[in-house]
Amino acid sequence: MKHSLPNPSQARVDVKFVRATDELRLSLTDARRFGDTIGLVPTMGCLHDGHLSLIRAARAECDVVVMSLFVNPTQFGPGEDFERYPRDEERDTALAASAGAEIVYAPTVEGMYPEGFSTRVEVQGLTEVLCGDPARRGPEHFRGVTTVVAKLFNAVGPCVAYFGQKDAQQVAVIKRMVRDLNLPVRIEALPIVREPDGLAMSSRNVYLEDGDRARAAALSRALRRAEREARSGSLAAGIEAGRAELAKAGIDPEYFEARDAEDLAPVAELNGRPVLIAVAAQVGGARLIDNVVIEP
Ligand code: AMP
Repeated sequence: MKHSLPNPSQARVDVKFVRATDELRLSLTDARRFGDTIGLVPTMGCLHDGHLSLIRAARAECDVVVMSLFVNPTQFGPGEDFERYPRDEERDTALAASAGAEIVYAPTVEGMYPEGFSTRVEVQGLTEVLCGDPARRGPEHFRGVTTVVAKLFNAVGPCVAYFGQKDAQQVAVIKRMVRDLNLPVRIEALPIVREPDGLAMSSRNVYLEDGDRARAAALSRALRRAEREARSGSLAAGIEAGRAELAKAGIDPEYFEARDAEDLAPVAELNGRPVLIAVAAQVGGARLIDNVVIEP
């Protein structure tokens, strides 16, 4: 739709909202025929500046920007927050449009998972550590993510898909799926957008009450401290210092670990490859994750 689009720097506010995959495909027919680049930003809604940074990046690079909006039940475990996950399609659609999306694809649960749905896409190994540890969210969480992302890729047919580095393990898992299955899409991982006190933006931050909201800033402080100590001393000292920072805020993390940023294997020392330090912790009503990548 390059032919009919205004200059991407001019804010475009008319947005098409579609639920049905057939209608989505129809909306993209011209774009495909004219060889336009299609960018996809998958989200679960409750948009914040982190999401909008992805849409803006897609807007800057692609001819057509699709944002998907789908709270995917299969990536929530029993007892997780699927039911109470904040939903506001009208607000999200307006925000997505203001950041430059022209199509919002918001399928229904029944549309995504019709009666008899029995196919799963599963990446092994990478999904069994950190959040995928069976004692935590478990690999089923990532199986839900990879299955729905594969479906979104097939529905939209994007040239590029944009993800946040905030979910570092998700990025590693999706990149592996794309490589292993030869999916014809480029994955862009963009930096974590933070609140002024360092807290990584997250739709789940709305669950934080005042005192917990202040305490939650300890996660990013701990990561920064860990990186500093790792660079000046040792990775082990960095991990210890990060954990101490969390303890000062009364936070007992599910994990605070150093891993290879690509294959998520444990690492004991900085080794010339990007090293991910990742944390997950329950702070009051919210389970939060955050990370930093130490580039060589
Ligand atoms: P979600 O709606 O939480 O599934 O997130 C949709 C996309 O936004 C994912 O690729 C997330 O990694 C990304 N995202 C969420 N929070 C942030 C953030 N603070 N900075 C950058 N990207 C983010």
